[in-house]
Amino acid sequence: MKISEIMKQKMSFSFEVFPPKMDQPMDNLLDTLEHLYVFNPDFISCTYGAGGTNAGRNVEVCRAIKKSGRTIPVTHFTCIGNTKKDIKKSLQTYLDMGIDHILALRGDFPKGWEGTRGDFDYANELVAFIKKNFPEFCIAVAGNPEKHFQADSFEEDIAHLRVKQDAGADYIMTQLCHDVDQYKWWAEKIRKSGILLPIDVGVMPVLSKDPIVRMTVSNGSAIPRELAEIIARYGDNPEDFKKAGKEYTVKQIYRFINAGINGLHIYSLNRWKDITDILDESGIRNLNESLE
Ligand code: FAD
Repeated sequence: MKISEIMKQKMSFSFEVFPPKMDQPMDNLLDTLEHLYVFNPDFISCTYGAGGTNAGRNVEVCRAIKKSGRTIPVTHFTCIGNTKKDIKKSLQTYLDMGIDHILALRGDFPKGWEGTRGDFDYANELVAFIKKNFPEFCIAVAGNPEKHFQADSFEEDIAHLRVKQDAGADYIMTQLCHDVDQYKWWAEKIRKSGILLPIDVGVMPVLSKDPIVRMTVSNGSAIPRELAEIIARYGDNPEDFKKAGKEYTVKQIYRFINAGINGLHIYSLNRWKDITDILDESGIRNLNESLE
């Protein structure tokens, strides 16, 4: 069943992983996947290095997930540096492996770039291209509850999201957003703008100070006071920080579930032990089974 169909029946539950670097072995990632399968995720998505720097590794990871038969692999894919010919070849490779779910992205520009240097400038063009040439794919697109950092206004950004829906997207996956009230405001606003796609919300676990600050700020997202206080209180003590961060993440999971989301997507950061702690603490293991 396609993920967009699953989301019509229940709140989906999923993880994101990233591939190892080209010169690193796959073993750790395969081990991580084994531990994530235990939670019966509806899918696991795998990131794609903009510019295709680790595209080979992304394919290996997606293939391993597919081969396991344990869940649906979703590949991320970007326009950066990709021509129509490259894209056709890559997408056919995924389909040949039985991978028919994709998150269609523009991608962030590598340092010094001002455009994609490929055939498509924006994700909506990629979505339309996939829909026309490879209609088998279930297509997710990115949504930004706090506005994409390059957009001048919410109105403009939401209008661009609407174009992605109209081009044939099947569901939305959100950018990191710690501010649940802001998410609710945005979800209502996009609905009023005629965007009716299911929304899969990404939750970033709070595990260590510098990475969480960097990942949040680099997306133009805000650090709410509750998280700022954790950073201020425990920032100098990694162990206490992680403990408080995990508790905060469990609360966030429930705040988002209570906001009526269509899917819960955990950015696993390939840290299965911490993710297991968080999910055991939150009772999600049982929650997902009871939602079947
Ligand atoms: P777009 O939808 O094209 O939007 C980019 C900007 O252009 C926005 O400001 C938008 O308002 C504007 N815009 C959109 N369409 C138009 C138009 N037609 N005309 C004018 N302006 C327009 N990046 C990676 O490199 N690899 C990954 O694996 C990856 N995974 C991600 C997973 C998730 C869940 C999310 C939310 C993001 C991910 N990203 C990833 C980051 C993403 O590539 C960046 O956020 C990127 O800056 C924008 O991608 P987009 O698909 O949202 O672009």
